[in-house]
Amino acid sequence: MRRYRVIIIGAGIVGSSIARVLSMYENLEVHVVEKEVDVGWGSSKANTSIIHPGHEEDPEKHPLRAKLCVQGNRLWRQWVKELDIPFKFPGELMVAFSDEELKRAKKYIELARKNKVPGVKLLTDRRELELLEPNISQNAVGAVWAPTAGQINPIQAVIALIENSVDNGVKLHVETKVEKVVVKNGVVKGVETNRGFMEADIVINAAGLYADEISKTAGVDGFSIRPRKGEYYIFDPLAEPKVTRIIHPVPTPITKGVYVITTTEGNLMIGPTAVDLPEEAKEDKSVTFEGLDFVWKEAQRLVKKLPPKTMVIRVFAGLRPEPPDGRYIIKAYDNPWGFINVAGIRSPGLTSAPAIAYYVRDLIEKELDIKLEKKKSWNPYRKAITRLRDLSWEEQKALATKNPLYGWIICECMKVSAAEIIEAVKRMKKIGIKTISLDGIKFRSLAMMGRDQGGLCRVRIAVLLQKEFGIPLWDLMVKGLNTNYAIGDIKMLRRGQTAER
Ligand SMILES: Cc1cc2nc3c(=O)[nH]c(=O)nc-3n(C[C@H](O)[C@H](O)[C@H](O)COP(=O)(O)OP(=O)(O)OC[C@H]3O[C@@H](n4cnc5c(N)ncnc54)[C@H](O)[C@@H]3O)c2cc1C
Repeated sequence: MRRYRVIIIGAGIVGSSIARVLSMYENLEVHVVEKEVDVGWGSSKANTSIIHPGHEEDPEKHPLRAKLCVQGNRLWRQWVKELDIPFKFPGELMVAFSDEELKRAKKYIELARKNKVPGVKLLTDRRELELLEPNISQNAVGAVWAPTAGQINPIQAVIALIENSVDNGVKLHVETKVEKVVVKNGVVKGVETNRGFMEADIVINAAGLYADEISKTAGVDGFSIRPRKGEYYIFDPLAEPKVTRIIHPVPTPITKGVYVITTTEGNLMIGPTAVDLPEEAKEDKSVTFEGLDFVWKEAQRLVKKLPPKTMVIRVFAGLRPEPPDGRYIIKAYDNPWGFINVAGIRSPGLTSAPAIAYYVRDLIEKELDIKLEKKKSWNPYRKAITRLRDLSWEEQKALATKNPLYGWIICECMKVSAAEIIEAVKRMKKIGIKTISLDGIKFRSLAMMGRDQGGLCRVRIAVLLQKEFGIPLWDLMVKGLNTNYAIGDIKMLRRGQTAER
């Protein structure tokens, strides 16, 4: 049996889903190459987190996108359980404010029928609307109800997928930037990176915003990926009123509109905008006064009441990787043989990711003519870190009796214990993360995500890491490389005066 070495460029939701599916096969040796210090820090980190039903996809204009979205919605229901990813399926209300909007909204009933999305219907009875969503705007005259809409925690989904993939033999290479795809005589040979050459028979380009640049180096030109910015507000978990369902207006040709949702962690979140940026602005994650103002006004239109602005704990922006004409570019090539583009995965890319992964598996079998052999011992399961805050008082006591570190609360806003932070770091090390960052810990443990955004607990975490793992304060990063947590008193610390608990 011949084994093929596969390199997946990019550990976003797409690359990590592909890694999981390809880890099912004996004759593939899978490597994920990621330029950042951790996984999921591209578009997959900052989005609305919705598992779309598929009734907004036009199967005539975008048949592949429509198919993958509907399949993805089904697959996530299984994947969230196997991988212990935070999720909910509250359903979605597309709200109309006039008869004209109601007329436009009917199009989505028809699209639902074409895409075979179950349960989608038009509601015009106010009592029915209020029953589904008590906080729906008084001015709503009707809504399209899509009961299969869901939500996941997107970055925790990437982390879970990578943990499960590594458990099944995939190798993750972080801090490794692909500079070019190496091709000889029309056949892929590997990739050149900042850490040297890596050999491969198959290279899968899932580099998100940078997929166009990677593709060019393989000799596959002719498309560009443009960033489309989306800005958000997120509220304190205690802020009220929240919403029970996913709420958004009737879409325009450019955007699905501003959403009002309650995240899987219980925070009210509003956004995003949809603003096209120039091609070179692929790192511009700044928020703007205009963008945030627009989000606030749109959200106010959708619900009876928003919590006061003083309850906002964070504003942020994400960048969609927009392909030309909104078309997903998922394709294997004869020349160079072995190169597969998974480019331009704009919304609903989070939803579609599991279906995209199976589609890529099929490309390997059908287009590259490689017969894949199933592994006998593939493990579909992965357990999340046990969260104190999700347990009953009795369970918390039992856990803390067994392991006293569960009784030491480090992040009081989110009720995260020292045990959870230590577990987060152990898991980072296990998948091959070299640079331990506060953001990496935040996304895994939820510490620093509460009202004070780490104002109080960040220093406790830094000290804990020094004690437990010997990570000196000056080596602890906030986000990525060169974002040192402690730069001020380093000289003093280097002289041997280490911080105490
Ligand atoms: C504002 C916003 C709202 C959205 N809302 C939703 C939603 O509600 N539902 C939904 O289904 N979809 C949504 N999406 C779309 C979804 O987030 C994306 O489709 C998805 O995250 C794309 O995943 P990806 O893995 O292709 O890209 P990314 O997550 O960007 O991953 C690409 C990875 O490649 C790495 N990389 C890039 N270049 C290199 C290189 N040279 N070498 C090595 N690594 C490299 C990057 O660091 C990154 O980690 C939204 C997107 C945005 C921005």
